[in-house]
Amino acid sequence: MGTSTYEDAVRFHGHSCPGLAIGYRMTTAAFAMLGAARAGDEELVAIVENDACGVDAVQVVAGCSFGKGNLVFHDYGKQVYTFFSRKTGRGVRVIGHRRGMPEGLRDDREARIRWILGAPEAEVVSCREVTIDEPPTARLYRSALCVGCGEPVMETRLQTVGGRLLCIPCAEEQENRGTRHRRVESEEREDPRT
Ligand SMILES: [Zn+2]
Ligand SMILES: [Zn+2]
Repeated sequence: MGTSTYEDAVRFHGHSCPGLAIGYRMTTAAFAMLGAARAGDEELVAIVENDACGVDAVQVVAGCSFGKGNLVFHDYGKQVYTFFSRKTGRGVRVIGHRRGMPEGLRDDREARIRWILGAPEAEVVSCREVTIDEPPTARLYRSALCVGCGEPVMETRLQTVGGRLLCIPCAEEQENRGTRHRRVESEEREDPRT
């Protein structure tokens, strides 16, 4: 399969920006180290540690997406991705640091994008091989109906509240209502007039 270009990522993302450019450099650098091709299926997994613009480059270039279940998001706010190949068992952790960026580019967005895309790899990203536990494969679960709202829910996400199987929003609503009731009861008990 042909490698996606930065322009392909821009088309998907909707605009060109420094974040997308760094995501593109991180993904292509990790790919070169892994010797990977775009993930047609689930054999390649991306674990991303932020949900910013660059992740769209991961989806286009690496073919890892939420829908396929091979894009794992950790909300760490770090410019770090880890790619794992199920085929070879190898993992690469890539950090986007832009260490070599010249000072003068800070206020010039377009120049920054051009620099990120063209700079020598070591000035933009660093990659190293890592050993990680193989992420679990996406599994298909059956769904059942929530007795609160009647909408279909993945079985493993149903909660039991007061003996009723509820989806998470309905369960939270019921629990909040329960807390309110308890608060009213205890206030009544503590009321000196009673
Ligand atoms: Zn963007
Ligand atoms: Zn519900």
